[in-house]
Amino acid sequence: MLNLRNISRAVVIGGGTAGWFSALTLRRLFAPQVEVRVIESPAIGIVGVGEGGLLNLIDALRRNGIGLNEFVRETGAAFKLGFCYEGWRTGEDDDRYYHLFGRPGLQEIDWMEAGFHPLLSGMVHEGMELHRYIPGFASIAINASQQQAAAMLQLGASSGLSASFHFDSHKLADYLRRVAVSRGVVHQQARVEELVCDAQGMARAVRLEGAEETVGLDLLVDASGLARLGIGGKLGVRWRSFSGYLLLDRAVPFHMPHPQPNPSLVTRAIAMPAGWMWQIPLVERVGAGYVFSSAHADEAQVVEEIHRRIGPGIEPMRTLRFEPGHFEQVWVGNVMAVGLASGFVEPLEATSIGQMLEQLRNFERIVAAGDGVVAGHLIDDFNEANARCWSGIRDFLRMHYDCPRRDTAFWRDVAELPLPPSYAELWACFQQRTPRMVDVQNYAINGWQGIFHALNWLFVAAPLGVVPREAAAAELQGLPSASRARVAAYITRMRELGAAGDFSSKGDRSA
Ligand SMILES: Cc1cc2nc3c(=O)[nH]c(=O)nc-3n(C[C@H](O)[C@H](O)[C@H](O)COP(=O)(O)OP(=O)(O)OC[C@H]3O[C@@H](n4cnc5c(N)ncnc54)[C@H](O)[C@@H]3O)c2cc1C
Repeated sequence: MLNLRNISRAVVIGGGTAGWFSALTLRRLFAPQVEVRVIESPAIGIVGVGEGGLLNLIDALRRNGIGLNEFVRETGAAFKLGFCYEGWRTGEDDDRYYHLFGRPGLQEIDWMEAGFHPLLSGMVHEGMELHRYIPGFASIAINASQQQAAAMLQLGASSGLSASFHFDSHKLADYLRRVAVSRGVVHQQARVEELVCDAQGMARAVRLEGAEETVGLDLLVDASGLARLGIGGKLGVRWRSFSGYLLLDRAVPFHMPHPQPNPSLVTRAIAMPAGWMWQIPLVERVGAGYVFSSAHADEAQVVEEIHRRIGPGIEPMRTLRFEPGHFEQVWVGNVMAVGLASGFVEPLEATSIGQMLEQLRNFERIVAAGDGVVAGHLIDDFNEANARCWSGIRDFLRMHYDCPRRDTAFWRDVAELPLPPSYAELWACFQQRTPRMVDVQNYAINGWQGIFHALNWLFVAAPLGVVPREAAAAELQGLPSASRARVAAYITRMRELGAAGDFSSKGDRSA
């Protein structure tokens, strides 16, 4: 049992995105007399990447009482409507598919029968590219301005899209710090040298560089980034590596100017010889990086490829090293690790901040529900749910590499990697039918909401051919004839409306 009822001080190590979101959460969770203190080392600094959110970013901002307009202004944020995958199939210039924060087709697409969405399956069976049938896709296709995108999103459900944001990670940390401090969070700049635990393994204090006194604490949130001081360092919790299933383990980030007048409305994920390149468009610049497999390229080769692709003027930043995976437990006693301190897979699908916010939401839910008194088995459940969440991320990302590219050693080797058993099972199911809720519900247990849902899986599985068209046809065959006729009529209507811009101008989602 963990009793947080009468605590005096909660310490957060780290002033990155994870640290400040944690501090804001703790500030709301505990009474004003409980000190919430963030200790961060400016000499170490933040990782400075991680500039794309998922939809749960919006919920997290609302939960923390942060207005969207102010957030956009203070963090240099631009709309993010999803992801564009470029060159992951043929590598040709027109090889693109999209995973968008949206739903394709008219409103009746929500119709569900026999555990699946027949109209979506009908579209997959017909080889229709799902993203093209989202009314708001026209804005992405023409690379609309932020103002035009805002107007399109005002249409709400009729645009078929929801938005998250691309943001400047340094501005975000700075902004969250100002908000947290204005709400009473104590900010201390110092380097933590050591975590001091008692005989029962409970954290009691942190020792700071150059200080004689330690800082006592009752609760510790370890948001120390890749330094991983607490759960990984002092407490020595076991690491669960995904490197047998995912190859990428290095990244060279850089900044670049916008290649087109308006910031792109999607994160671009461009296939490269030894990995892929992210391009995250902010208002003032593009945050970019080449994430690669160290078994297939070294830093010099990667920098050369960046220069060849983007231009000789690009100045790469330091190389980041990581091993894909996470700690088996992230909450042990009175210590919880969040953000990079708890794990990291790779930047594909921008899962890290989304996972961190989901973890914080559940921490808050459990502590609040127990009135500050938490049973040990709830902490076990929390850790199990967190590990399942990571498994879902691993499996979803692994599917992205089930792509037809084979032109370099990297793309050949990644295709040959073993599949995680849970994804291998899903893959086998997808040869028979489209992804369903039942397939992914085990990735979100014990009150977690999950990050990717069946439609997210379909957005990637269909264009890659992981779900063959025949599989969609097979599940439609099981429907009564009236339902099949409804699917056929819908497909005819979609074809009449046409894709992309045509569709959005003629589509009537209220029909
Ligand atoms: C290559 C790459 C690309 C990524 N892309 C994305 C993306 O597109 N979307 C996404 O959601 N996420 C992405 N991430 C992850 C994202 O960067 C992080 O989830 C996010 O920035 C949160 O980081 P953090 O706060 O955990 O760590 P950091 O930002 O590194 O902060 C760590 C903090 O701990 C402090 N610290 C460390 N050691 C000490 C010490 N001894 N004493 C005191 N303070 C200390 C540091 O000074 C810093 O303040 C990416 C990560 C990488 C590596």
